[in-house]
Amino acid sequence: MLLIAFVGVPLIADRLAPLVPLSVERRIGVAVDRQVRAIFDGKECAAPEGRAAFDKLMGALSRHIATPFPIEPAVLASSTANAVALPGGKVYVLDGLIQKSKSPDEVAAVVAHEIGHVAERDGMRHLIQNGGTSFLIGLLFGDVTGSAVVLTAARSLASASYSRVAETRADRHAIDAMLALGRSPVPLGELLTRITGESKRGPFDMLSGHPLSSDRLEAMRAADRPVTAPPLLTDDEWRALKAICTAKS
Ligand SMILES: [Zn+2]
Repeated sequence: MLLIAFVGVPLIADRLAPLVPLSVERRIGVAVDRQVRAIFDGKECAAPEGRAAFDKLMGALSRHIATPFPIEPAVLASSTANAVALPGGKVYVLDGLIQKSKSPDEVAAVVAHEIGHVAERDGMRHLIQNGGTSFLIGLLFGDVTGSAVVLTAARSLASASYSRVAETRADRHAIDAMLALGRSPVPLGELLTRITGESKRGPFDMLSGHPLSSDRLEAMRAADRPVTAPPLLTDDEWRALKAICTAKS
């Protein structure tokens, strides 16, 4: 039993996640969305100029990362410096992350990392691994949106810390996307170092007790090339993004 618990379930999750129909993952994403927003306790920020800048960044990134779902990004008015990708393609960037960023490249690279988790279906994998028996049964029989299951799933996602392998894989997506945009991948490491260096354990992927390992940083530095494209946002757009939660909408 122990062997199944520690070896079997991660293996099952790895094999099962790619087989879950996309429509099922989307339904799970929609179902856990409300709970996840409640956990973050943040309203969606949509000051028009800030939203336009945010959409410009997202558009650039999603052209360079192939995902099984269209990405549905939003900024939430939470002061926590974090970002999260839900099953089914919803990506939340918390205002705290934008405030902590020193450049559009830093925001872009972290969001690219989250889109990488969508591409790899890591949220789905995590739920299969940690959602418990009720979730697995729900998945097998098609009812994954019952209230108890959804609550379990949302809580499980809220404490998600992905394996080092998954983090490295998501970094790879971010590195490739930044290079494809003619920008450096190193700001990903710089922002993550700043966040994880300061914060204690918090909910969700970025801050959940997985400080940026030196080999992840090394991979970004090794891939780095001189920039060949202008910054991803103009100064005005960057200011607008910084004010997305505070400017009048
Ligand atoms: Zn991650």
